[in-house]
Amino acid sequence: MAIIEVRDLKKTYKIGSVEIPALRGVSFSVEPGEFVAIMGPSGSGKSTLMNIIGCLDRPSAGRYILDGRDASRLSDAARAAVRNRKIGFVFQSFNLLPRMSAFKNTLLPMMYSTERKSKKAARQALESVGLGHRLHHTPMQLSGGEQQRVAIARALINDPPIIFGDEPTGNLDSATGNEIIAIFQKLNQAGKTVMMVTHEPDIAQHAKRILRFRDGLLESDESVAEQLIAVTIHERSGSGKNAD
Ligand code: ADP
Repeated sequence: MAIIEVRDLKKTYKIGSVEIPALRGVSFSVEPGEFVAIMGPSGSGKSTLMNIIGCLDRPSAGRYILDGRDASRLSDAARAAVRNRKIGFVFQSFNLLPRMSAFKNTLLPMMYSTERKSKKAARQALESVGLGHRLHHTPMQLSGGEQQRVAIARALINDPPIIFGDEPTGNLDSATGNEIIAIFQKLNQAGKTVMMVTHEPDIAQHAKRILRFRDGLLESDESVAEQLIAVTIHERSGSGKNAD
């Protein structure tokens, strides 16, 4: 069964009397455990699509089935609850709260748990992205790559089955971007479904499948013949422990 299924999805924005068709009838489905890159020129409808399948916005027409449930007709509150359980978001600009520590930023989406359980989960999430030693640093005290890893820890805190990245490497140099992609691949190997918008063809080659959009339509849907595997600096330098 597909975890994400969209059927003839349409979205039209209205500004005054002007209608802007951002999505003009898009259909595809994603199975659990896929790693999908979303590509396409600026204005092709990628953000509009991600907002809808991320349960941040509603389509004008068409259906969106998320993990067996019709998400196109949910109330705002029900959509927010589904989003919180099913999807972790990672954005280009990290979107961390500047005055809060890595630990508190990671804790933010925690809703359905006791305090003790939440704190343990936040610590584990930060450890899983290699930041166990940076719990009490604020974003300003962290590098860009570390900030993005905090954002990934925050996305993981509720253990959602789906991770969405909106150009997650867009603000990072290529070595640091590579580290972030390595984490996405590790999460995918562990069973998470990953969807990621990217402008960079070589980043997209780290996915298993590429959906290309143009003018609000799905232009192509291809599987990646030879998926690139991101090797981190840590792994490249050999044994690991004393790598740096
Ligand atoms: P992409 O993410 O591929 O750059 P978008 O989904 O942001 O594309 O935009 C698709 C089209 O919809 C563009 O023509 C854009 O100008 C328009 N658009 C996007 N968001 C809005 C909005 N909130 N109001 C009006 N038009 C919008």
